[in-house]
Amino acid sequence: MIRDEDFIQSKQVPGPTKEEVRCLVMCKAHIYQEDVVLDVGCGTGGLTVESAQRAHKVIAIDKNPEAVSLTQQNLIKHKLLEKVKLIEGDALSVMTELTSFDVLLIGGSSGDLPQIISQGYEKLNLNGRIVVTSILLETRVEAVETFKKLNMTLDVVEVTIAKGNITDRGTMMMGRNPITIISAVKNEYGNP
Ligand code: SAH
Repeated sequence: MIRDEDFIQSKQVPGPTKEEVRCLVMCKAHIYQEDVVLDVGCGTGGLTVESAQRAHKVIAIDKNPEAVSLTQQNLIKHKLLEKVKLIEGDALSVMTELTSFDVLLIGGSSGDLPQIISQGYEKLNLNGRIVVTSILLETRVEAVETFKKLNMTLDVVEVTIAKGNITDRGTMMMGRNPITIISAVKNEYGNP
């Protein structure tokens, strides 16, 4: 796992997803070295860089041009640019152009989550995984309901990481926001 401080960051772009959360997302994504990964809402590139270290190929999309450029800088920094296709645009319109993939990571959706999941599901290979990282209550519910409708095998994990802040007086534990990681596998009994 890459440390948070080893990502180039910008106040204009969210991310990177914190190291401990990236760890869980990678765990649930089960990336194999022959896999194609689609990262929707790549932000700073936290999950794009981690995926590029593990997968055959990564496609990263963000509607914010500054996010695309920051992700590119982080890929160059970690010598992984040649593995990644970066696309600036809205997830739903870009996804219509894509063929198939094994893993879909969703870190941003701007209200289109059910559609992004449903469209992604159609292009997801059998046994493929979709992993949603959610900070909003509404997104969690939408993700769970959409996965259920598609008859996918569902897994939900919520974590509240507390991180030790080392001071002269001792180590002060500082709580972070709860994050929910909702993941689902496309199985042979799923809807068409
Ligand atoms: N996982 C990233 C952080 C994601 S922040 C990291 O580790 O760095 C969420 C991102 O999703 C933002 O950059 C936002 O611009 C993007 N986003 C939100 N909705 C989108 C959509 N519909 N299409 C494309 N990108 C979107």
